[in-house]
Order: sequence, then structure tokens, then C-alpha cells
Amino acid sequence: MSEFTKTLCPYCGVGCGLEVSPPAQLNKATNRDSKGNPIWRVRGDKSHPSSQGMVCVKGATIAESLDKNRLHYPMVRDSLDQEFRQVSWDEAFNIITNRIQTVRFTQGPEAICMYGSGQFQTEDYYTAQKLLKGCLGTNNFDANSRLCMSSAVAGYIQSFGADGPPCCYEDLELTDCAFLIGTNTAECHPIIFNRLAKYHKKNRKVKMVVVDPRRTPTAEAADLHLAIRPGTDIDLLNGIAHLLMRWGYIDTMFIDDCTSNFSAYAEVIRHYPPEVAARQCGISIEDLETAARYWGQSQKVLSLWSMGVNQSSEGTAKVRTIINLHLMTAQIGKPGAGPFSLTGQPNAMGGREAGGLAHLLPGYRLVKNDQHRAEVEDFWGLKRGQISPTPGMTAWDMITGLETGDVGVLWIAATNPAVSMPDLERTKKALLRSPFTIYQDAYYPTETAAYAHVLLPAAQWGEKTGVMTNSERRVTLCQAFRQPPREAKADWEIFAEVGRRLGFADKFNFANSAEVYAEFAQLTKNRPCDMSGISHEQLQKQGPTQWPHPEKSAELKVLSAEYKEVTQHSKRLYTDLHFHTPDGRARFGAYYSKGLAELPDPDYPFVLTNGRLYGHWHTQTRTGRIEKIRSMHPEPFIEIHPRDAARLGISDNQVIEVRSRRGQAHFPAKVTKAIAPGTVFVPMHWGALWANDAEANALTHPESCPDSGQPELKACAVQLAPISVE
Ligand code: SF4
Repeated sequence: MSEFTKTLCPYCGVGCGLEVSPPAQLNKATNRDSKGNPIWRVRGDKSHPSSQGMVCVKGATIAESLDKNRLHYPMVRDSLDQEFRQVSWDEAFNIITNRIQTVRFTQGPEAICMYGSGQFQTEDYYTAQKLLKGCLGTNNFDANSRLCMSSAVAGYIQSFGADGPPCCYEDLELTDCAFLIGTNTAECHPIIFNRLAKYHKKNRKVKMVVVDPRRTPTAEAADLHLAIRPGTDIDLLNGIAHLLMRWGYIDTMFIDDCTSNFSAYAEVIRHYPPEVAARQCGISIEDLETAARYWGQSQKVLSLWSMGVNQSSEGTAKVRTIINLHLMTAQIGKPGAGPFSLTGQPNAMGGREAGGLAHLLPGYRLVKNDQHRAEVEDFWGLKRGQISPTPGMTAWDMITGLETGDVGVLWIAATNPAVSMPDLERTKKALLRSPFTIYQDAYYPTETAAYAHVLLPAAQWGEKTGVMTNSERRVTLCQAFRQPPREAKADWEIFAEVGRRLGFADKFNFANSAEVYAEFAQLTKNRPCDMSGISHEQLQKQGPTQWPHPEKSAELKVLSAEYKEVTQHSKRLYTDLHFHTPDGRARFGAYYSKGLAELPDPDYPFVLTNGRLYGHWHTQTRTGRIEKIRSMHPEPFIEIHPRDAARLGISDNQVIEVRSRRGQAHFPAKVTKAIAPGTVFVPMHWGALWANDAEANALTHPESCPDSGQPELKACAVQLAPISVE
């Protein structure tokens, strides 16, 4: 038997396969951390089809975070000014269930909220949905995926009739033109970028276009970098569409046979001639024409996007406008082509499958859809009408619900909203008002733990067996390779135990996570994300598997022709050009650009944008404790263009006070031409635990996309003032 356990990197949505071996078999001084703890050995899994053995620095160093700053015991306190005291699980469960029952019967189920995470395994998501949506009768389960890719979800649903990225990573190596917009793939999804960049280097005819206000490492590798003004994505995309139409690059047969609403869209793009679109975007007409020519002359166009598109007050419109370009040129359902959203979190995709947002139910079902609710009620053995027809509170709704007193219990798990939510001062004030906050996490301290009444120690990656789905719909079994420390438990076990103690024992009769997954997979039967043929056992035998993977395919031998056919079919969606809309046609979305929700003005003249750095992950709960990564990125900074710096008398490393209408923060300046004049950039990773007053979200605002509820974290108006010279 191999000494290595196969699992998945728990950081980003690329979903790289890892193999982990125990420290006991290595026994070298170099395999111990500075405190003498043995470090597990991690290497890329060469047999994993998504990553083919590659890992980035986060994946390579992940084991160093396993034993650092772990939460080991349940802890409680009556009020936030008290110290926590350690309690038994039994006592913690009693406190939680008593409070839930009290709030349920005094304020109603809608006063109970859970804010979960794309760090969950699918089994965690599923049990949480069943507890809140099925048993307690509230859809108030939302996840940090709301801040990450809910605009992509809404865009796919509106354009195709169902969620789900239609492409696969193999398309990165088959395309003629990669069109990257709002994604710094080289730093945020490094292994996807490695695959694309290698292919691009070898095939000089292949074009790479990068749309980003910053000259990122991704943009450095492009044939064409379009440094558009923040918020002008729709102007650009409609401008490209205008040229494709004018130059006759559209596929009228596909439009006639497979789509609807083209005439409304054609009317909109008529208003985006190149001189208008280019002026709006702040780029040359020549560059706009080059982008349109690359797209129009390519046999296969693949677009990639992530938070730069999704985190917008018109995020869904942006997503649909990207999809429009694919529809008008028939760039979908074939190798090397299609619209491809990259997810941020390792199992944000699993969350979508399991109903892990406030408007979703398991199996790509919608809360608002009567038939979908009835199907889930029947499956869960509930009475008709037991699932509420009202979508629950989104992440930001929970913050405003605390302000208005509508939230009686807030249960936060595996996420750190005291750093990652917009308008942090307002967020923190709201968290202070929470009458009862449960915080369930693997780590302590975190910024959010300071706002909790109950702390629950969670098992993390490597300490529980479960399933995660990556951006290309590939499902991987993440096998436990060690026991949880002290009293930590898997998230799904905690949710199931609370469910049993609340009187729903028959609904949570699971002996292990394989049983949870088996139940969940059955609920996806005949749905667009059909995983009824996937089980823990099948994944162990056949390895990572893409969905759709219906039940019958599980019985097939790995190398049989039929199995090959099933896996071919799962690689890409919509190869038959039939969509999930009632008429089977993909829908064009017709959108004029609205621009940023908060435009710069004389008082706040700069647009602040933010993003990830190569080494760090989100709020540094893990990466802030890994020496190698800390030394790569020792401190936050603000990028400012030399022209703006000269005008304001700012020099390199000088500390800048940055103010928005909501708050302020301080960053050392990095004067660089990588950022366009009028725009500044800060990394998003530093919360109160890691730096004094360098929180990007102290500045951002919560204005959200009306369709997806995703806040415009990517841009806000700020003023800058140098405050000292080092
Ligand atoms: Fe992990 Fe993402 Fe890096 Fe792969 S690319 S090793 S999934 S952080």
C-alpha cells in the first residue's frame, strides 16, 4: 500500500491533486517546523488530470499550517467582554440547540442564519442545507461564495437555464484565442495559468488577450493587454460585439437555431461603435479592433474570468455579456472554446451543487421554483410546503439583519467575515450587535472569533474524508490522512448532531461522510449536475471524475467504450447545442453599461481596486502562519502610478493614508507603471491580526449586483494623502 494519501489542495478552485505522506516515515530535521512539530510531506499528484503533478507555493507548503493556531475545544462566553471558557461538546450542543429553539419560537426560523464557506467539503454543505432549509424552514444559508462567484452562477442560469461552467482545463491547450478578463490567473489560479502559458509559448499562432486595469504577471504574458478603466467591461465587450457584427464574424445559423433574444442584443450593441467603446474604456481604437479581430478570426475562443468580473454591481450583466460574444460566434460546446468562470474557493462548485447559497437547493435547484422545492421535500421526507419559497438572506443581508435586530442566531463556519466583508467598520459594528454568534473554525485566533459567543473546533483539510469539485466540474475524493486534533470534529458531523438534538434524528442518520455523499448524489439524479453515478467508492477506484456522471456510468468498466463516451460527454457541456432553458435555446442578455456604483469625484478622485497576491490566501488564516509565504509577501502596499505619485509628492515606501467614504487604511506606496493613472491597487489579505490599519475592506462598499447579490468589492472611490517618509 502506498505511503501517500491522495487528496486535493484546499486553497483555490483550480483543485490540484496532492499526495501526502506522514512525517514519521521521513524523520529528518528539515521536516520539522520551528517549534519542532513534524511536518507532513506534500507533493503534486501526477495522476490528477486537472493539475498533472503541478502545485504552486500554497499547495506545496500547506502542511505547515496543519498544527498552527488550532482551535482544540468548544469554548463559550455569555458576552463579548468576557473571556471564553472551555466546555464539553455536550454542553456546547445544549447551549446551541436551546438558543436555536428559543429564537425559532420567539422570532421565527427566519431569524436563524448560517454563513458558510467554499472551504467546506460537499458533505458539510449538504448537511447544513438539510438542517436549515429542510428542517428549520429557513433558506438563510449563504456562503462566502456569494462574495466570489455568485454573478457567474446567475449569469449561467440566465443565459443557459442552469448553472455550470461548460468548459474543461483541456480547452486551455486546444484554443486558438484565450480571452482573459478580470482575472489575474498567473497569481490567483497559477496552475491553470501554467498550462495555458506553456501552450501559448509553444504555439505562437495562439493569441492571448488580457483585460485588466493593472499590468499583472498575467497581462505581461499576453499578446494584447487592454488596460481598461475599472468598470468599463461591458463597454469593451459590446464594442467587440459591434465590430464582430460589422465585419461579418457572427454565426447566423447558430444564432437562428440555438439562441433567443438576439434582436434586443443587436439593438444594444449598435450603440457601441469603436470610437464610443474605446473612449469609454480609455484604450485605443486600434487595440479594440485587434481584440475583435483575434476573436473573430479564431476557430476556437476560450474566455476566462474571475473576481474582476463577478465582484461588481453589474456582475451578472458582465457575465452575460461575455457569454453573448460566445453565442454570436458559436464559440461553445466544442473543444478549446466556451465561457469559463474560474472559482476562487476549492469547493465553491460543490456548494453550488449542494444548494449552498441562499437562493439554491441541492442539485442545481432554485428555492423559488415550486417543482424544485417539491422534489427536495419528497426526497427528504418532508411535508409539502416545509421548505420556504423565499430565498434566504445573502451574506450582506445577514449584516444588515444584525443591524435591524432581525438576526437572532448567526452561525459562521470556515470563513472570516471580519476581514472579507465590504465596509468593514459597518460589518464589525453589526457583528458586535449580534445577540448570539457561533463561530466554527479550525483556527484560533481569527479576526471573526473576537465577535463570537461560542467557538466550535472544526476538523480541517486532511482530517476528514469528503468530496470537492473544482472549476472544471471535476470531483475529487479528499481522503483524511490524520485524526483531527484533540476534540475537533468534521463540520458535517457538527451540523448532523445539532439536527439530531433538535428532533430530526431520522434526517441525519449518517454513519460516515460516504453515506452523506451517497444521499446527496441521489438528489442530483436527472439534474444538469447529475452525479448519481459518483460515490466515495467510485472516486477511490476510478479517480477524480467530471460531472455530469449519471448512475448508469458508475457500473461501467473504466476502459469500456461506453465509459469513454460518458467521460467525453462530461468534459464539456452543451456539445449537443441544447441548453437548459424551456425552449432549449441559450438567451442573449441585452445590457448597456452602467459603470461603477461609486465613481471617482473631486473629493475621492482615485478608483481603488484590490486582489490576491501569488502566495497568500484570502485572510491569511493559513498562509499568514507559513514562513516561506510570509517572507514572499512581508507587508501590504498600495500601487500607484508614477504620474499620480509625482503630483501628490509621494515617493516609494512612503506611507499613504487612503480614505473612502466609509473608512481609512494606511499602506506603504509602491510607485509603479503596472497600475493605470487614476487607479490604485491594494492586496486584500491583511486583517487586524496581521497589520495595523491596512484592511482593504475598510474602504470598500457593499453596493451589490441586483441579480446575484454579489457586492462590488473590486472598486470604490478613494482619496490619498502621504503621511510620513521612512
Ligand atoms: Fe492549490 Fe490553487 Fe495552488 Fe493548485 S493552484 S496548488 S489548488 S492554491
